[in-house]
Amino acid sequence: MLSQIVTSDACVHCGACCAHYRVSFYWAEAEAMPSEMIEPLTAVYSCMKGTNQTQVKCIALEGVVGQQVSCSIYEVRSSTCQEVQMADEHCNKARIAHNLIPLIQIEEQEAANNEDYNQVG
Ligand code: SF4
Ligand code: SF4
Repeated sequence: MLSQIVTSDACVHCGACCAHYRVSFYWAEAEAMPSEMIEPLTAVYSCMKGTNQTQVKCIALEGVVGQQVSCSIYEVRSSTCQEVQMADEHCNKARIAHNLIPLIQIEEQEAANNEDYNQVG
């Protein structure tokens, strides 16, 4: 499958995970967030408004998915939001659902023989 190497600004041009999953978390996490953006889910769990419906879009997501987005509560976003990492399974599932190319993470390899190499010449 065609995929795209992760860049540091990938999320800024995406937002797919914020418009794909129900974003729920332990209720106490919501205390740092604007109450009008939160919806109770169970006795102990709350979720972001807009994510517990068929057409998911978190109320805190600004901009257009796949173009330019931002999270209006980024500093206080839930642990659930923070768990999704660029190019992980959840990320790519959401991206594919939004017709965006899946991402791949390229690990930077440290040359094992750096010292030897420096000694040459
Ligand atoms: S789906 Fe992946 S790339 Fe897109 S905003 Fe979420 S973590 Fe970032
Ligand atoms: S709170 Fe922010 S990071 Fe979390 S789903 Fe909503 S827009 Fe995305």
